[in-house]
Amino acid sequence: MFRPDTAILPLRILTVSVVLLLLLLSGARRTKKTWPVSFSQEELKKRLTPMQYQVTQERGTESAFTGEFTHHKDEGSYTCVVCGAVLFSSNTKFDSGSGWPSFYDLVKEESVSLTDDFSYGMHRVETTCSQCGAHLGHLFDDGPKPTGKRYCINSASLGFQAKDAASTSTSASTSSSGAEGGAASSSVSDGKTEL
Ligand SMILES: [Zn+2]
Repeated sequence: MFRPDTAILPLRILTVSVVLLLLLLSGARRTKKTWPVSFSQEELKKRLTPMQYQVTQERGTESAFTGEFTHHKDEGSYTCVVCGAVLFSSNTKFDSGSGWPSFYDLVKEESVSLTDDFSYGMHRVETTCSQCGAHLGHLFDDGPKPTGKRYCINSASLGFQAKDAASTSTSASTSSSGAEGGAASSSVSDGKTEL
């Protein structure tokens, strides 16, 4: 008896599984979203410090209590270090004791995108700059009133615009140890000013 079906069946199964595998792989590759503003990795490597690059582009985390903005109390706006978008205000910054700059609210709801992050065997909510996709930190639900939210943000993801930057009325008398931050803060001025 000649039964061609039985000979072809294993081949079919192989073909179907290869196609499924390819679909899975292409799906995984597509998880990288595109953002309204993008920069070449080459440019960012030049413009950002190694820590700023690692945190914003490779979803890294700076060590607790090491960031320049953890205990920063000046009045002004915190911006995305990559694209310059305004993200947080000093009005909503609070001392969470975590070792990272913490905010209980955003300046604009749409300025930060939230995604589930299942890395390190935990479920956390990742916060990302909606403009350029820079990794910022994570959002937790144990913040103070009125929002109850805690945006736990890496200093390396942030730039800072002092409220009185235009008038320059105050002189920074305590910048003796701020030599390292000089390069970082000057790079922020490269960001676009579209307004
Ligand atoms: Zn950005």
